[in-house]
Amino acid sequence: MIRTEKLEVRTKGENDIINITQKVDSILQKLGAKEGIANLFLQSTTSALTIIEYEEGLLTDFPRTLERLAPKNAPYEHEKAWGDGNAHSHMRSSLIGVSMTVPVIDGRLALGQWQSIVLTEFDVRPRKRTVIVQFVSSSSTE
Ligand code: ZN
Repeated sequence: MIRTEKLEVRTKGENDIINITQKVDSILQKLGAKEGIANLFLQSTTSALTIIEYEEGLLTDFPRTLERLAPKNAPYEHEKAWGDGNAHSHMRSSLIGVSMTVPVIDGRLALGQWQSIVLTEFDVRPRKRTVIVQFVSSSSTE
């Protein structure tokens, strides 16, 4: 059995880190999820999905670390071609990734105590993002 829902998220632009854990949990309840897996897929090349401990220090450290990995002002071929100022955003999206799978037990995301699922915006302007949430289970666990 596969059930699909879309989650729309509006971001404020670069380095906006949005905790979507509760929204994904609510979607799973709406879908009647019990035992299975939730696959999340973000349709984007300039934002990402990851898991973080949602506390102020790390929410500052994470963008700082990415600035060292893919600096905003480094030379990028994408800038020469498009000049849209977001080559570093594309790099960060590719490095972090746009999908994840989380076990679902008793209808809830089986996250560790300090784990939050976040959508991290890397683009240089506010964007509307779509996360496809699919709950997958065998028919015997429905
Ligand atoms: Zn671009």
